Amino acid sequence: MSRPVPKAGILDIAPYTPGKSPVVEAGRKTFKLSANETPFGPSPRAKEAFTAVATHLEDYPEGTSRVLREAIGKRHGLDPARIICGAGSDEILNLIAHVYLGPGDEAISTTHGFLVYPIATSANGATNVVAAEVDFTCNVDAILDCVSPRTKLVWLANPNNPTGTYLPFDEIKRLRAGLPEHVLLVLDAAYADYVGRPDYDSGLELANSTENTVVCYTFSKVHGLAALRIGWMFGPADIVDAMNRIRGPFNVSAPAMLAAVAAIEDTQHVEMSQAFTVKWRELLSAEVRKLGITVTPSVANFILMHFPTTPGKTAADADAFLTSRGLVLRAVTNYGLPHSLRMTIGTEEANRFFLDTIREFMEQK
Ligand SMILES: *Cc1c(COP(=O)(O)O)cnc(C)c1O
Repeated sequence: MSRPVPKAGILDIAPYTPGKSPVVEAGRKTFKLSANETPFGPSPRAKEAFTAVATHLEDYPEGTSRVLREAIGKRHGLDPARIICGAGSDEILNLIAHVYLGPGDEAISTTHGFLVYPIATSANGATNVVAAEVDFTCNVDAILDCVSPRTKLVWLANPNNPTGTYLPFDEIKRLRAGLPEHVLLVLDAAYADYVGRPDYDSGLELANSTENTVVCYTFSKVHGLAALRIGWMFGPADIVDAMNRIRGPFNVSAPAMLAAVAAIEDTQHVEMSQAFTVKWRELLSAEVRKLGITVTPSVANFILMHFPTTPGKTAADADAFLTSRGLVLRAVTNYGLPHSLRMTIGTEEANRFFLDTIREFMEQK
């Protein structure tokens, strides 16, 4: 008997494993520090906007996310006509791959790059080519060395997840200049709001001035709207036009669109979250290093910790110990990092409890 067979590439994809959700146990507090969600939730104004839509759930949303594109345009100084919104940046990344990749093509990602990239590449029958990182940091020369006549696209999260490292804008410009003009450079700026370094730029200026660079943003991180699935991309008009041809006509829900408008307008909420994250990122990194655990310098809202391979002190041992205390971190074995754990910066209570618990773990005999 014959049966339907998926297209080439689909079954080569390992299913995406999201961060664990805590097992709720009576009488024990749990802290989910596994999915880079903000401990502050969204702006109260975003919640109000979301709730207000409840009286009109029978209406289709406006199909082009016009009010949101205008709000984003105003906030970042961009032409709203060159913005496209999606159900999370996941949808945007998949639309890009769908438009630009097919069998015989190659797309470059990096050793510890975001796992959605190789999935989007393979789903379209193209080949994922991995450029080596140096010190858990993407490397422009390694990426350029991977370019072949088949290369169509480069995926680059800046800052990167799960490493937390970044490339200065000078390096991004050097990458762009070194890539052939027909190769699309996709800059994923999911963590841009947390960086706070003078040599960093998400690349919007490059997307504005070149024909071959796009920048993706999400409302899932600093804006605290991960549950609503909302993200956007800015790029050259013809790229946005091609993507608009294949996206669902109502791909963004009205609650997501209107909550996002309120979120992007509440700059105070974002600034509060940024300041808190930077303070705790530095403090947690310094305290954890004192315990003999290596921490990769991060500019995002999480830190990547590298554990010893000594039995009893491994990343897996630490993960089990922390989980037993209600601290749920992200194991990153499927990112090629079996000796590491990623911790999302949480509330002050969660961060202090984590420090006490990891200290106890490292000091126990
Ligand atoms: C969290 C994250 C996103 C955002 O994904 P959404 O689909 O918008 O929730 C995008 N890229 C990277 C690297 C991320 O870590």
